[in-house]
Amino acid sequence: MPMTTLEQKVCLVCGASSETMVLEPCPVCGKWFCKDCSFKQTGRRFCSPGCARDFFWGIGEEEDEDDTQEREPEY
Ligand SMILES: [Zn+2]
Ligand SMILES: [Zn+2]
Repeated sequence: MPMTTLEQKVCLVCGASSETMVLEPCPVCGKWFCKDCSFKQTGRRFCSPGCARDFFWGIGEEEDEDDTQEREPEY
């Protein structure tokens, strides 16, 4: 293999690969998302409104680390 394919980056929402779309890592959860699926807030982009909320509410306080599944924002 000429190129390393350790991690195939795909958008977690639509599944677009980094070869066809520009993907960005979520600053909160580290998942990759494409521009079409990004959630924009105050100049930053997140994978979801929930991550945007977590980011602005402050990271570092790991209170609930047991949510392995996607959390849906309740608003
Ligand atoms: Zn996408
Ligand atoms: Zn995220």
